[in-house]
Amino acid sequence: MTENRAIFLDRDGTLIRDAHYLKDPAKVEIIPEISRALEKVRQLGYFLFMHTNQSGITRGYYGWSDVFACNKKMLQDFGWSEDFFTEVCIAPESPEEKGRYRKPSPKFENEMTKKFDLDPAKCWVVGDKWIDPQTGMNAGMRGALVRTGKPIDEDLLSKAQIRGVPVYEDLNEFAEKEILLSE
Ligand SMILES: [Mg+2]
Repeated sequence: MTENRAIFLDRDGTLIRDAHYLKDPAKVEIIPEISRALEKVRQLGYFLFMHTNQSGITRGYYGWSDVFACNKKMLQDFGWSEDFFTEVCIAPESPEEKGRYRKPSPKFENEMTKKFDLDPAKCWVVGDKWIDPQTGMNAGMRGALVRTGKPIDEDLLSKAQIRGVPVYEDLNEFAEKEILLSE
């Protein structure tokens, strides 16, 4: 049975403020107000995953341990347990390396769909850049944009409208309107 539902969340600009090639855990700044709605979504039985592109690893700007340390700081600052996300995918590839875990590749989403019997039609990929909803659509899932990261210009807004991708102020509004309202 493929009944399970999940939300795949981007990190930079979605869960925490977008800092250019973030390396220092002290610079992690969580986006306020999104914690409670996500906790409710999790209590409803949604699997929560985090999928983050970190090309800075391949570019040599920082290492895996820096990313782990920043992720840990984020969880601590939100007050979330280490297992808040069922799995985390850190995609280290540069944009030139195609077909691996770097979004918009849906490789991680497809693997999780198999592993956890997800129904892609009931899953979302949410983030601040077009590659986030694009990853969702590439996996047969829905995608949504949030305005907490990279600015969403008119071009992106019209692309989102054409493709039926909703745009929300933040993850809180996404969760309330797309998930909690219909429960
Ligand atoms: Mg982002």
